[in-house]
Amino acid sequence: MANNEKLEIMRHSAAHVMAEAVQSLFPEAKFGIGPAIENGFYYDFDLPRPLTPDDLPVIEAKMREIIAANLPFTRQEVTKKKAKAMFAAQPYKLELIDEIPDEKVSIYQQGNFVDLCRGPHVSSAGEIKAFKLLSIAGAYWRGSERRPMLQRIYAAAFETEEALAEHLKKLEAMESHDHRRLNKQLNLYIAPEEIGGGLIIYGPKAGRIRAIVEEFWRQEHFAHGYELLYTPHIGLSKLWEISGHLGFYQENMYSPIDIEGQEYYLKPMNCPFHILFYKSQPRSYRDLPLRWAELGTVYRYERSGVLLGLLRTRGFTQDDAHIFCTPEQIEDEIAEVYRFSIHMWQAFGFEKYKVYLSTRPQKAIGTEEQWHKAEEALRKVLQEEGVAYEVDEGGGAFYGPKIDIKVEDALEREWQMTTIQFDFNLPERFGMVYTSNDGQEHRPYMIHRALLGAWERFFGLLIEHYGGAFPIWLAPVQVVIIPVADRHLEYARKLAQELKSEGVRTEVDDRSETVNLKIRQAQLDKIPYMLVVGDKEIAASTVSVRRRGGEKLEVRPFGDFKQDIKTAIASRSNV
Ligand SMILES: [Zn+2]
Ligand SMILES: [Zn+2]
Repeated sequence: MANNEKLEIMRHSAAHVMAEAVQSLFPEAKFGIGPAIENGFYYDFDLPRPLTPDDLPVIEAKMREIIAANLPFTRQEVTKKKAKAMFAAQPYKLELIDEIPDEKVSIYQQGNFVDLCRGPHVSSAGEIKAFKLLSIAGAYWRGSERRPMLQRIYAAAFETEEALAEHLKKLEAMESHDHRRLNKQLNLYIAPEEIGGGLIIYGPKAGRIRAIVEEFWRQEHFAHGYELLYTPHIGLSKLWEISGHLGFYQENMYSPIDIEGQEYYLKPMNCPFHILFYKSQPRSYRDLPLRWAELGTVYRYERSGVLLGLLRTRGFTQDDAHIFCTPEQIEDEIAEVYRFSIHMWQAFGFEKYKVYLSTRPQKAIGTEEQWHKAEEALRKVLQEEGVAYEVDEGGGAFYGPKIDIKVEDALEREWQMTTIQFDFNLPERFGMVYTSNDGQEHRPYMIHRALLGAWERFFGLLIEHYGGAFPIWLAPVQVVIIPVADRHLEYARKLAQELKSEGVRTEVDDRSETVNLKIRQAQLDKIPYMLVVGDKEIAASTVSVRRRGGEKLEVRPFGDFKQDIKTAIASRSNV
């Protein structure tokens, strides 16, 4: 048997043991399901009271007793009728039994716990190795909001204590990098109840970071031959009928707004507006390619249950762009977009990517020739760039093939961010044309692309990747000056003024607190540099430099420090 299969059986058996432990603590417990999952297992329970974190060690101790007793897991086949009698007090199991098509069902027993289960299982409880109960979460029975909410206990389980310890360490790192948790400490944004789910208000620190990112984004786009468009947040129903969104995308859109008897919709995408500008005048092959970008804020319906901090919101700002070009230009355009994406990710400190190419699905619009040309262009570019990529055969949208780029963060997690997507649908629906050198009208090729994805998700990724310690060029405050005593305040303010006049974001911590407390605060705020100044520093025109990681650097002439930090910021250093 393969190792991972064995591990899965062990994990699932541990779920049975957890259920047995819960049953012994709550004899009236009703049981849902308890599968093995990646890295562990869970079980869903309907219990007479809500579990608290204090319950976990108690359940865990009971599980260790059961495992030490090493009783066998035994399998039995019974008729459905008999099974229903056995599980008469277990409504969730009864529901599952009813759905099994076979005449007989299998049940497993260990100790005095009996479960409806296909198996297989370990032969006795003693084979269950390293595990730890992790957390409690609410989970709807069968994932449906209309069914009862059960309590789920998540656990990790591994073959060895070492593997478990390694996994727990990783979880801890993930938790300390969680953007929602870091946000509580750093005060970047709020998502208050009063405005409704999935809507974000950014505070001054996030505002500063966003302004820097946007400015960089704009400059890079101009440098890469893009122009900027600005478009409204709502559009008339007629527009969304032409674009087809009211046909195939309506479940992601919000209800219309009535204005003078006409229906307007919040935009879920920016594309139709860009197309209207394309169509606002005749286009010749000499005008192409056109590359139009927009930081466009769109609104899409997401169920409240799936909203997740910055990572899944209802309103978000895409770093969107559309490229309109001739068939001859698509290879160059794709290559350019690909290189541009990588350039942007590198600028923000991401060095590892996975690339996916999605090709024509069964049901698709557009001609054979269009698909072939577009897919070949995508393939050729990836080959020429020397990129290893995976092909998702048939995984493209019905309107065109695409390249997706997943970036890897500091914790080695993959994030789907960049999409480069062909579209054979919208040019057709809007009747877009350009006049070719043969004097005839032709359809342009259209490419949608988002490099960073959406600002919200990108910001969430930045926070998690850097654990809130933003690189120097993005840090909302780059330097804090800490005077040792009140008599050093004047010097501190003078240095701050000099740094500010050079564009370095600087604050003076002038509170009447101890130096140590101020250093600790600056470290919590993850400010890259702390300059401590006292009598000695004033006498020698120096500063005592500390880094946010806690390292104390040397005492340096202030002029040298100023020069170095200016250079680091200008070069967008990612340390
Ligand atoms: Zn089982
Ligand atoms: Zn688009």
